[in-house]
Amino acid sequence: MRLRNIPGSREVIAESEFVIHEDIMREKKGKWHEVFGNDRPIRLEIGMGKGRFIHELAALHPEYNYVGIEKYSSVLLRALDKRRAMREAGLPDNLYFLRMDAENLTEVFGLGEADRIYLNFSDPWPKDRHAHRRLPSRAYLARYREILIPGGIVEFKTDNDDLFAFALEEAKAAGWEIAACTMDLHHDPAMLEGNVMTEYEAKFSALGNPIHKVVLRRPDNIM
Ligand code: SAM
Repeated sequence: MRLRNIPGSREVIAESEFVIHEDIMREKKGKWHEVFGNDRPIRLEIGMGKGRFIHELAALHPEYNYVGIEKYSSVLLRALDKRRAMREAGLPDNLYFLRMDAENLTEVFGLGEADRIYLNFSDPWPKDRHAHRRLPSRAYLARYREILIPGGIVEFKTDNDDLFAFALEEAKAAGWEIAACTMDLHHDPAMLEGNVMTEYEAKFSALGNPIHKVVLRRPDNIM
């Protein structure tokens, strides 16, 4: 998702109390529990877009802390109103945002700081020479492995057949366990239980596209 540049979006984000800002985000590495002020497990969504999924998840699960990561200011801006409404409604205060490229994830999160990572409708980057930019690629899986606890989970949803096949191949090659997998999430009662829809999921499932989902468990051969 790349929205038209919105003038002033960087400034609005820079002033937001819900965003951990670029100049201090690296200081939080290894200290995320201090940011939240509790020891609850931390879960990340990478490429959260306008944030429908992570807001709903955070509201439903006060027993977890959440961090939404988005590369573009113009997109993250759309999430900030939802976050304010969440606070005003007295919902749990368990969600922060980072405007950053997930490429730099290991500079901001320490070893084993997260217990789960969500990738939803990640950009497909169809050209082979851009494969390393795909969020479920082995290059990214290596970053996720570093910041996840032993037994930590990556959940990936998409309607894109090629990207899904790629994700499965990359995960197998990198030694991740496929804990659960479906090619049609919305017709798989077991995997659908507790499903929270993303913006893209709502849009593409309404067009009749089957939604694929895989749950990957981190290999245990490090840490
Ligand atoms: N997850 C949302 C959903 O399912 O509705 C949005 C999906 S949208 C296709 C993908 C989002 O990931 C875009 O907002 C894009 O800017 C963001 N993104 C892509 N690569 C990223 C990266 N390397 N780091 C952070 N965000 C990224």
